[in-house]
Amino acid sequence: MISLFKDEDVSVWVPVANGKGGGAARAFLPFNGRTGTYRYGYKASPSTGIYFDALRDIQQSFIDDEHQVFVVNSVKKKEKQHKARWRHGNKTGSPLLGPSMGWVRVPVDELEKLSESDLGKALQAAGAEFTQLSPATAEPVLCDSPESLERESARLFREASIALPSGQAAPARQERSAEQFVRDAAVVAYVLREARGNCECCMKPAPFTKPNGLPYLEVHHVKRLASGGSDKISNAIAVCPNCHRELHLGANSDDIAYSLYTKVGRLVRE
Ligand SMILES: [Zn+2]
Ligand SMILES: [Zn+2]
Repeated sequence: MISLFKDEDVSVWVPVANGKGGGAARAFLPFNGRTGTYRYGYKASPSTGIYFDALRDIQQSFIDDEHQVFVVNSVKKKEKQHKARWRHGNKTGSPLLGPSMGWVRVPVDELEKLSESDLGKALQAAGAEFTQLSPATAEPVLCDSPESLERESARLFREASIALPSGQAAPARQERSAEQFVRDAAVVAYVLREARGNCECCMKPAPFTKPNGLPYLEVHHVKRLASGGSDKISNAIAVCPNCHRELHLGANSDDIAYSLYTKVGRLVRE
């Protein structure tokens, strides 16, 4: 099922309709820019709004009741309308948009690069009413010291677009002091962005802000790197220092680690 878009989300559900007369798919994309106006809503009572407001309204109505049918009295005839049929565009005669093909979850950063047919193809390929497009993948940004990891991950955190890191299945060991691994700053930046300033273990806000403006959270590998864990977003979480110490030293650390796999959808057991 789809979820309502929130301003800080990195991905968003977009409705996709069948094209007119068997043509390409029709999708509600920001073809008029993110701050341009869009005419949307029921055929009988269209509204006008900027892109994300319009999209949220469409999402909310779909979540409330996709298939509600109501009757419109026009001068000449009574007309049945499906709630899911949305006007989409700027003019009075704008085409109708009904999410009859389905919904595609799209990285927000790629919204303006996508075409309607990209989304139609994604739904057809998935053979499902709900599917998602994977964002472009980020090559590892390898860092051989805690200082460079901090600097590079802060830089990537601030980039307008954050791609899904491929990470490293087996990070290289360094011959320095104990427990040093070559880490991927893209993984750190991505995990910190997903955490949105809150510990992914106890859910509380980061205890303080660092001089570089980022919330203080530590990135922990659920299966330790020293035990052969990967340096991937599916094995990394952003946690507060208390939870981090407990995950390493606590009597219940195994239980807490286990519960993270259900709490954080990104994680995969290794
Ligand atoms: Zn915590
Ligand atoms: Zn750790």
